Amino acid sequence: MRGLMQDSPLTIDTIFRHAEQHYGDVPIITNGPKGVTRSTYGEWADRTRRLGGVLDTLGISADGRVGTFGWNSQRHLELYFAAPCTGRVLHTLNIRLFPEQLTYIANHAEDEVVFVDRSVFGLFWPLVDTMTTVRHVVVMEDGGDAELPDDPRISDYETLLAAASPVDFDVRDENLAASMCYTSGTTGNPKGVVYSHRSTVLHTMAALSPNAFGLSVRDVAMPVVPMFHANAWGIAQAAPAAGAALVFPGPMMQPEALANLIVDEGVTFTAGVPTIWQGVLPFLAGKEHQLREIGCGGSAVPKALSEAYREQVGLPILQAWGMTETSPVASSGVLPRRLQDADDETKANVRARAGIPLFGVEARIVDADTLEPQPWDDTATGELQVRGNWCAKEYYNPDAGVELSTADGWMKTGDVAAMSADGSIRIADRTKDLIKSGGEWISSVDLENAIMSHPKVAEAAVVGVPHPKWDERPLACVVLKQGETATEEEILEHLKPLVAKWWLPDAVEFIDEVPKTSVGKFSKKDLRAKFAEYELKA
Ligand code: ADP
Repeated sequence: MRGLMQDSPLTIDTIFRHAEQHYGDVPIITNGPKGVTRSTYGEWADRTRRLGGVLDTLGISADGRVGTFGWNSQRHLELYFAAPCTGRVLHTLNIRLFPEQLTYIANHAEDEVVFVDRSVFGLFWPLVDTMTTVRHVVVMEDGGDAELPDDPRISDYETLLAAASPVDFDVRDENLAASMCYTSGTTGNPKGVVYSHRSTVLHTMAALSPNAFGLSVRDVAMPVVPMFHANAWGIAQAAPAAGAALVFPGPMMQPEALANLIVDEGVTFTAGVPTIWQGVLPFLAGKEHQLREIGCGGSAVPKALSEAYREQVGLPILQAWGMTETSPVASSGVLPRRLQDADDETKANVRARAGIPLFGVEARIVDADTLEPQPWDDTATGELQVRGNWCAKEYYNPDAGVELSTADGWMKTGDVAAMSADGSIRIADRTKDLIKSGGEWISSVDLENAIMSHPKVAEAAVVGVPHPKWDERPLACVVLKQGETATEEEILEHLKPLVAKWWLPDAVEFIDEVPKTSVGKFSKKDLRAKFAEYELKA
């Protein structure tokens, strides 16, 4: 017997139409150097349909790649929908990648047009001749003042939009590509992930669920996580689907500007990587605000950071785990029912975990070579593998040199994790960041968390450095809070009660800043290179 229900394709134009029909008066706000610009979903919908017309006028192929090079803004949201809703494929270029990587991904994706914010035009334009398929560069005025050369490839977003006619959106095949994103390459060359309409709609529903971001018409959502990185964690689709107002920081990414925007615009939900919240904390502490949730992920969320928010801002951070390859949101650190009334310390420990997979994602930990399942006892570790309808099956560049799926159909994450009896995930490390000491593994993440709980420490990153006897030993690179001084002994004394004796770093280096990747994560690759020749004291 077969079910007798309707079966309509899960396509992104359904999200668009829902927002257009029901939330026309809901605000969309974009910040800029001259202050905020206010609009509504109604205006956005009209402009997005006309942007579809612009893509036709420019002669972009039926499934042509539409590149973007810009900050989080209303125009970026127009592109997020106009491209896939006309059958094209949105390709968000990460504005902080190295020039060679940008050239590589634009050519590999075969971008036909790139929409560029004027404030970052100067980063983009020198590369245009290396991008062999790019025929058009459309400049979006975001208050930037870059000089624009006289070149027939360049046109102005608003001029094109004013001249264009609105188009109908009707995508019938849910398995068509909707957008693509190359991983930022914390651990190697950028690898292309291609999302379908179906995977995006399902991910949107998951991101909307209360165990994830729980967005609704009552929310004012501010994605700080860039739209050029891992789809702004799905917020750009989830907010229109829920009718949540949107606040975009635009190019105003300085911590103080972010904190002011949260306060002034009554933001209730926001999300970004830990280094963002680290910076914003002093500007938000003690202020009156409407926040109900701060989502955070992309790298381990230090317990000390989440607790500092609880104490100084009045709400802890919600940790989420995911990857570009998982659309990206795959798990969240919600408090299980039995711990709703637990003491603060217990709750803080739960929040320090990647947490429970969202409904729709399954997770397992296995021996990476034999695929032997590891016990869920919170001690045994293994490679974290996931499966679900918004997890990637393969990369767009098979020459990436990485096999994404196992023979039995699970996605390899490259993360090492333990799982507790109820399947809550604790990320121990990235495979590449684990420190191998005398045949045993040391988790750099655990050490960093322990060091960052020292009151004088602002940031800490731990990397393995070569050791003649033990292969590798941990080196702690510590950034002290402004005005503080500390000694190596002080840091090590602090660690002694917190970690196994053989985990204690062999040395502590005080540095001015931890090098960051293009999306603000600690760049262990750069730290390892910096300390490659490091001589440990015997
Ligand atoms: P990359 O950092 O490789 O450029 P992504 O932004 O897709 O690409 O990052 C995915 C990776 O980020 C995960 O594999 C994991 O190592 C790390 N990560 C994401 N969320 C968390 C988290 N909550 N805790 C620890 N690590 C995380």
